This record gives sequence, C-alpha cells and structure tokens, in this order.
Amino acid sequence: MTQKVPLALVTGASRGIGAAIALGLAEDGFDIWLNYKSRHHEAQFVARSIQEMGRKCHLLPFDVTDQDMVSNALAPLLEQYTPHVLINNAGFVRDVLLVWMKREEWSDVLGVHLNGFFHVTKTVLPSMIRARGGRIVTIVSTSGERGVAGQVNYSAAKAGLIGATRSLAAEVAKRNILVNAVSPGFIETEMTEAIPKEKVLPMVPMGRFGTPGEVAAVVRFLCSPSASYVTGQVIGVNGGVS
Ligand code: NAP
Repeated sequence: MTQKVPLALVTGASRGIGAAIALGLAEDGFDIWLNYKSRHHEAQFVARSIQEMGRKCHLLPFDVTDQDMVSNALAPLLEQYTPHVLINNAGFVRDVLLVWMKREEWSDVLGVHLNGFFHVTKTVLPSMIRARGGRIVTIVSTSGERGVAGQVNYSAAKAGLIGATRSLAAEVAKRNILVNAVSPGFIETEMTEAIPKEKVLPMVPMGRFGTPGEVAAVVRFLCSPSASYVTGQVIGVNGGVS
C-alpha cells in the first residue's frame, strides 16, 4: 500500500549526519521512520523537531547488525506501509593500524556497514519493488575511495558499500528504484571529534570540515524528483579532497 505522504526510513538518525538527513527529508515533506541503536534522548529530540514541522516520526531503535531485530521492527510496518526512501547511514569507526587491529575491530566495523546495509535493504526492497519505485541512498566515505592509515576496516567496509550500490542500482533500475551513494569527507560530528584538525585540514582544499546539513543537501537532491535519471553514482561531499 502506498501512502499520500511519502515515507523515508533513515538509519542512524539520532544524531550527526543521519539526524540532518531525517530533518531535511521531513522539511521536504516526508514522514520519517527514524532508526538508531541506543541514544533514546537524542532520537526523541530529533523526532520532536520533525513533529513540530507537522510530519510524523516513528522511532525504531534496533541494531542494524542484528537480522532478527531488523525484521521484528520493520516487517509488521511493511505490511501496511511502503517507504519511498531508504537511507543507509548508521555507522561507526574503530580506527587502529592493521598490525594492532583485533579481529572484532575488523568484523564489528564490517558488520555495521556491510551487514547493516544487507539486513535493512533486503528487508525494505521487496516493498519498493511492489510499488515500482523508490530511492536508496547509502552514506559511504572518502575513506572507501582512497586509503586512510588506521582505517583498513572502515575503508574496506565503505569500498564494499560502493560496489554494492553500483550492483544494486543495475539490478533494480528497471523497477524505477534509484540507488546511489553519498561520500562525505570530514564532517563535524561526534565521529570526527577526536581528529586533530590541524593535521587533516591541509588535505582539504576548502580548508574546513563540512556540516551534516551539507551532506543532507545532496541526499535530499537524490531523493527528489529532480534526480529522476541519477542512479549507480557516488557523489562526494568533501570540500575538494581528491
Ligand atoms: P555519528 O554522529 O557517530 O552517529 C552515528 C549514528 O549511527 C547514530 O545515530 C548511532 O545511533 C547510529 N548507529 C551506530 N551503530 C548502529 C547500529 N549498529 N545500529 C543502528 N544504528 C547505529 O556518525 P556520523 O558522523 O553522523 O556518521 C553517519 C554516517 O556517515 C556513517 O555511516 C559514517 O560512516 C559516515 N561518514 C561520516 C563522516 C564524518 O566525517 N562524520 C565522513 C564520512 C562518512 P546511537 O546514537 O543510538 O548510537
């Protein structure tokens, strides 16, 4: 069943880039299914702002790495509703040089990004196929396009997501489901708080970190009618890092 008001599921939307995307899509007229892992207060704060815009916001706490949690949260809703948009944004880092990397630091990072993408996208996709339309945007990273010391796990996960995006785009294009990735550089969020700016800013031609809103702006475009012939692409939002 399709709804009058379009619906967007955003993973990892309690804070940072995901929160900016959820707020931006709500401003564009979407009701929001807002996923997060454990930060209830932050998620409630974002939900209140969405509701103040006159849009609905349904909080969906689940761990994207856990297939059962994903199914239990989404399957009953998908019997009634079809999201037009899925944003795979949930993410985290465990930065360490490969020589010191523990097996869990490798598998946990791949788990959140790659298994999270698989679990959520596979659960939502059949409803988009039935509706013969949808937009899937996955947040990757400059780190998945070029090497970054200390991020072998994260770079591998994000590079994997770029491949998954391009292949899925080819699989579902005829169903009018457009699949793209947005690749941020350094963005001001909790994830980058510990990065010493003086060390990394020389790598950024624009000489500053980006904001979550600047990433959300590109995601909003990809979810809009204006992006109707854009699929299988990776769009950088990185202040000119090449
Ligand atoms: P953030 O501020 O650390 O927020 C991470 C979000 O992901 C939170 O909502 C968190 O939920 C959620 N999350 C983490 N693990 C999860 C799990 N297993 N299941 C469900 N939700 C989970 O991160 P961010 O900087 O906004 O990053 C968002 C995305 O952009 C990530 O994919 C990241 O890799 C990517 N990215 C970020 C940057 C950057 O510079 N910040 C650059 C390139 C790419 P809780 O709040 O409940 O913990």
